Amino acid sequence: MSENQKYRVLLYYQYVTIEEPEVFANKHLKFCKELGLKGRILVAEEGINGTVSGTWDQTEAYMNEMKSDPRFESMVFKIDESDKHAFKKMHVRPRAELVTLRLEDDINPHEVTGKYLSPKEFFEAMQDEDTVVLDARNDYEFDLGHFRGAIRPDIKTFRDLPDWVRENKQILEGKKILTYCTGGIRCEKFSGWLLEEGFDDVSQLHGGIVTYGKDPEVQGELWDGQCYVFDERIAVPVNQKEHTIVGRDYFDGTACERYVNCANPECNKQILSSEENEHKYMRSCTDECRVHPRNLYIKEHNLSEKEVKERLQLLEGEMAVN
Ligand SMILES: [Zn+2]
Repeated sequence: MSENQKYRVLLYYQYVTIEEPEVFANKHLKFCKELGLKGRILVAEEGINGTVSGTWDQTEAYMNEMKSDPRFESMVFKIDESDKHAFKKMHVRPRAELVTLRLEDDINPHEVTGKYLSPKEFFEAMQDEDTVVLDARNDYEFDLGHFRGAIRPDIKTFRDLPDWVRENKQILEGKKILTYCTGGIRCEKFSGWLLEEGFDDVSQLHGGIVTYGKDPEVQGELWDGQCYVFDERIAVPVNQKEHTIVGRDYFDGTACERYVNCANPECNKQILSSEENEHKYMRSCTDECRVHPRNLYIKEHNLSEKEVKERLQLLEGEMAVN
């Protein structure tokens, strides 16, 4: 395979003022489509945040063009090799915020943000006493993989994180706080918010987990499991030295790193499940989801009403035995 046939996935963000984000988004979408890229880009007055996939040439052209714009000349692109596109479509969406924290007083990372730690510095700081490592991501991201010993905030979405911190203050008070997220963008604001909230020793992993995993020195050490990503790959490796599975199958608790969405489209919950259990439980998180009239698993497998009933009875019988 020649270089030109290989694909790459780019992950990047920049907090920088973008006037008229709607106008920018329209033009940018056209530009990305002309290049042949696929992915998801958010544009706001406070900056840009994107993940796109394309061939080596397409992604190279995109990075060159972006870097020729003074607003993005210092933007860092995290680059993953891939054998295909990581998205089906190309979207560029104007948004009020790049990351949704919905704070009373918004945080400008150029004014206040936690201390930036390189992967090596983060690796060392993690092992200090009086340090707490706080995962700034959602519960389903944590469950697939996280830094060893990190705290898992019980949140489904990023905007719930400030409330979680206020309710769990005692875990963080008087400690050196280290925060991390996938590529670093969430921590830019979150660590700044922690400082505003009165915590005085706050640091963030510069470049996020993705950069940490590629760092030639630390090579992802002290990371367990895989890193959740918001594209079709879902999971990417981080720790190059060892691979410990921390994900647990939703149905039987065995080691698992395979995410599926609940087949009830109105639930759509992400659950870790083996292929075997996906079929056994009709890819549904509860009985209610299993019998939902729009259940996608039932549709995909053309199950008759009788067959569904038989499967439910089988599951019921098993629960009675346990
Ligand atoms: Zn469900």
